[in-house]
Amino acid sequence: EPIVIARNVEKWYGNNFHVLKGVSLTVNRGEVVVLMGPSGSGKSTFIRTFNGLEPYQKGSIEIDGTKISHNLKNIEIVRREVGMVFQQFNLFPHLTVLKNVTLAPIHLRGMTKSKAEEMAMQLLERVGIDHQANKYPGQLSGGQQQRVAIARALAMKPKVMLFDEPTSALDPEMVQEVLQVMRSLANSGMTMVCVTHEVGFAREVADRVIFLADGCLIEDTTPSEFFNNP
Ligand code: ADP
Ligand code: ADP
Repeated sequence: EPIVIARNVEKWYGNNFHVLKGVSLTVNRGEVVVLMGPSGSGKSTFIRTFNGLEPYQKGSIEIDGTKISHNLKNIEIVRREVGMVFQQFNLFPHLTVLKNVTLAPIHLRGMTKSKAEEMAMQLLERVGIDHQANKYPGQLSGGQQQRVAIARALAMKPKVMLFDEPTSALDPEMVQEVLQVMRSLANSGMTMVCVTHEVGFAREVADRVIFLADGCLIEDTTPSEFFNNP
């Protein structure tokens, strides 16, 4: 059952730079899709259109039946349903780990503080950071901060999770702890679209690998096909 349907998405930056040249992708509920391709091919731009971080000019995008208008008119609903994790963790530096996770549920979902904190602690436990709940992001390692960012995105109970090179800014020894959290999320049935260069993760976890080059989707296949026929 499709949950993300992107049809012929086209986008220009400014008037001249055609960054997405008609990209289509359907993601079924519970699927894990890894998006690969050269730097600058439009991977990040493409997934950012899924939660309304980027407007687009042609085509259509639907998330669980809700259309994301090209000019981001109806973006609030969709943004709550699509969680995103960035390369640079984007945590609020002046808020504790716990507050980073409870902020959106309290202010955007109207959850009470005590409910939000209870949920946040469960999520922090799930990513292995519950004992650091009262620290500030700057007191944590990059890998720990990224796991907090994942917990924060999950706190909105998203239907789809987007990952934009979540391990690229990490020291090598911290990459696996983040991939492990992503693996367990995939095993729990979360629908995920991940831009990543982590071949091991793609091989083991992805249901499909999509290859984008120069704004065009040129391959949509299984990891075994993708990695065995270079
Ligand atoms: P990828 O994620 O595949 O590396 P991006 O989607 O980040 O690719 O970028 C695709 C192209 O669009 C790159 O050439 C990049 O420099 C350009 N680009 C990205 N963001 C902007 C922007 N806000 N304005 C103009 N060009 C941009
Ligand atoms: P990534 O590949 O991880 O998206 P980039 O370095 O391509 O990172 O982009 C970082 C930020 O700079 C993004 O917000 C992107 O939109 C913006 N950006 C990238 N290229 C350009 C560009 N040519 N002109 C304006 N903004 C850009």
